[in-house]
Amino acid sequence: MENSRIYRSTYPAPHIPTDISLSQFLSDYNPDAVASDKVILEDNWSDHSVTYGELRFRASQDAQGLRDFYNLNVGDVVAVSAPNSVDHVLLIHSVLWTGATLALLNFLSTEDDFLHYFTICRPKLVVIDPDLYGVVFKALRRVQSLAVPHIITIGGSRPNLRSYPSDLESHKALPVFDLSSSDNRNHTAVICFSSGTSGKPKGVELSHYNLIASLSGIRSTDPAFYNSDSRGVFFAPLCHIYGLNTVGLMGVWLGAYTMLMKRYSLDELLKLSSSFKANTLRIVPSIALAMAKEASLESYDLSSIKFIMCSGAVLQREVIATLQRKFNQAPIFQGYGMTETNIATLRSHEWSRVGSVGRLFANVQARIVDDDLNDVDEGQDGEMLVRGPTVFRRYLNDPTATSQTFHDGWMRTGDVLHFDGEGFLYLTDRKKDLIKYKGFQVSPSELEGILTSHPEVDEGAVCAVWDNNEGTEIPTAYVKLRHTVPTDIQGRVNMAIDIQTFVNTKVSSYKRLRGGVHVLEEIPKTASGKILKRLLLPARSGVIKSL
Ligand code: AMP
Repeated sequence: MENSRIYRSTYPAPHIPTDISLSQFLSDYNPDAVASDKVILEDNWSDHSVTYGELRFRASQDAQGLRDFYNLNVGDVVAVSAPNSVDHVLLIHSVLWTGATLALLNFLSTEDDFLHYFTICRPKLVVIDPDLYGVVFKALRRVQSLAVPHIITIGGSRPNLRSYPSDLESHKALPVFDLSSSDNRNHTAVICFSSGTSGKPKGVELSHYNLIASLSGIRSTDPAFYNSDSRGVFFAPLCHIYGLNTVGLMGVWLGAYTMLMKRYSLDELLKLSSSFKANTLRIVPSIALAMAKEASLESYDLSSIKFIMCSGAVLQREVIATLQRKFNQAPIFQGYGMTETNIATLRSHEWSRVGSVGRLFANVQARIVDDDLNDVDEGQDGEMLVRGPTVFRRYLNDPTATSQTFHDGWMRTGDVLHFDGEGFLYLTDRKKDLIKYKGFQVSPSELEGILTSHPEVDEGAVCAVWDNNEGTEIPTAYVKLRHTVPTDIQGRVNMAIDIQTFVNTKVSSYKRLRGGVHVLEEIPKTASGKILKRLLLPARSGVIKSL
């Protein structure tokens, strides 16, 4: 349905080819004519590094190794779960070079999480950090009608398992995955997991076309910052679209330099940024807050930083102001995106619009609608719908969730925003049932399932509550008990702690109920029995208003 109130991007719209694979694109286009011997990636734990030319050459050889050992072909899925490293990025490109599909899984996952992911993506090959072997193997054995696939390690070895890359070396190079006589919109390159607007995590299928569109768009939106001169230290995991897109693909394409961190520590991030003379900081709001509060920030020489990019969650105005003071007025850009839009939805280039999450990304169109999906007037809040080449294909093996997410070709973001008169967007609320803990997605319904399996819990709801100290939303539970509520305070506290421990021991660390468990007499509901989370959430709306 064409509509009169469609907002269009004002950034230059690059042409997105449909007859090329992502690996072809990354080999054929070298926009800044980067020298092939330029070191583009190092990490802070493996002593490995790789140059611009070597990355492409090794991807072609390792692709041949993967083909020889595991007969990897187009349509096969390779699931990867490991911390950031140079080899991890190489593996990503080797798999893409074969034409197989990558499924990127959080390495903090529990056995049940892995079971869920493997059930959806049914991998032919699984590549893991050696420490994950126990949980991954148990999870794979529980996947219905799936023979346990080959498992290999990365970042370390384990008896009786091959290790990438050393045990898969080939002296031949595989020809690059060729989509010149096909349509790259119909080939899935990567599966990332996201819970979308509700429910448990789903496999987001990103096509070769989607990923090429994102790279081309980023370049055309911010050429002054996204180029081969960029130098940065990066901690966000490659399994999240932020890490994959920013470092795994964009840095590799442009030939920017990145030092990858195995795990985040503020001190290490600042030390490395200083010693490698980083000119770019890519952070999330909880880290922005930690930096703003860090009394010893001045003791690190960070004068090389020229640009700060902060995305993934709400960034508060006071934090922006403090950081700008501390970083010599370096511009702080905000990025808004989703796994489903391959990050690229909004970019704020004009950093002086404090509070705006940006303008529409190159080639992206948007509508702002009310609850009945009718367009609202400009300036009014409503759910944002988007369409464009960066929007994902579908949820893997989940036609129901896919059809609930798309409406007449528009993707529902579940986020509430408004435009100002000049094309800048402001995020004011979230309609969808999602918690973002320090950039990680937490699905409330997944926690509610565990919460209500506690024998004493009759009804329960999990919501996002803002934590001012940590600068992030934290999962918080509200329960009605099955039996009589203890009348004394200590009895209630003990019960709440018991329920909180019950949930926390069953989930990975970032999903824990850090906001605690609140015991209520009644859980507020609509006449039809739907829990009214808004009435549980005075703290959450406070957060959004503080934007
Ligand atoms: P993910 O798919 O994990 O990237 O999560 C996407 C969701 O994170 C979005 O739908 C928003 O709710 C939230 N989000 C992303 N960027 C921002 C931002 N700059 N400010 C506030 N929320 C954001």
